[in-house]
Amino acid sequence: MRVIQIPKQMQILAECIRNKGEKIGFVPTMGFFHEGHLSLMRKAKEISDVTVVSIFVNPTQFGPGEDLITYPRDFGRDCDMAKEEHVDIIFAPDVEDIYPQGYQTYVQVIEVTKNLCGFSRPHHFKGVTTIVSKLFNIVKPHYALFGMKDFQQFVTIKRMVADLNFDVEIIGVPTVRENDELAMSSRNVSLLPEQRRSALSLSRSIKEAQELFLKGERKVKNIIDHVSDIIIGEEHNNIDYVKICDVDTLEDIQVITHKALLAIAVRIGETRLIDNTILGDE
Ligand code: AMP
Repeated sequence: MRVIQIPKQMQILAECIRNKGEKIGFVPTMGFFHEGHLSLMRKAKEISDVTVVSIFVNPTQFGPGEDLITYPRDFGRDCDMAKEEHVDIIFAPDVEDIYPQGYQTYVQVIEVTKNLCGFSRPHHFKGVTTIVSKLFNIVKPHYALFGMKDFQQFVTIKRMVADLNFDVEIIGVPTVRENDELAMSSRNVSLLPEQRRSALSLSRSIKEAQELFLKGERKVKNIIDHVSDIIIGEEHNNIDYVKICDVDTLEDIQVITHKALLAIAVRIGETRLIDNTILGDE
């Protein structure tokens, strides 16, 4: 496994790989790997010849007062885990090489970033689409893999790739969960034991929403009320949002007439967790 830090070196290597006719599968991450990250790497290996994983805690996607400084990091452990998955290249640039002095160019997707996390974190997706654009230009992938846990991110990146004619195929990978159903996240390590117990209400409420839907409930308000009650029934939980949206536009809906996204964001102490499910998916 090669570890590359300098963007230009990565770009030259990517060009060599492409010239040999080999397919590059790319997994962008902020590191501190868990099984969710590893499932993206496995999928990338399955569909490509060379797997590139980036590790970069991107400052432009964190707002003021968010957890940029405390975001968990362990580069050595990440490299060991990636090696075990037979990842070919780790690209781990320095912040100064990605955003050098004088940097002033951003990529912004307008509509699908307005609701959900875009509403409570107004600068977040502009940072995400900017870094992903830059990484695409550096890593030159044929395929890029994203987790469906960050559903709005997935929709936003797909929109950006279509709108800006990026020559890359975006592939969504299902959410990997702990044995007790908590969606895996690098941020889970920050939860105290009692906070972690409260966090289980996210997946539990999603399951109950699915059951309500299967029993025939189609009124969004009724499902949202039920989910919210379960979440606020737990100490430590503060709801950021519970929403049901159109799965493509991510706009709020009132009645579920076709596939819809149920998305949840909850603050538990200092930690913000998200989870989601698709209602009406066979
Ligand atoms: P992050 O390092 O948190 O920015 O995540 C890097 C990639 O891993 C993103 O595409 C995430 O959507 C994906 N990811 C994070 N958690 C999970 C999970 N539990 N299951 C599947 N993919 C995930």
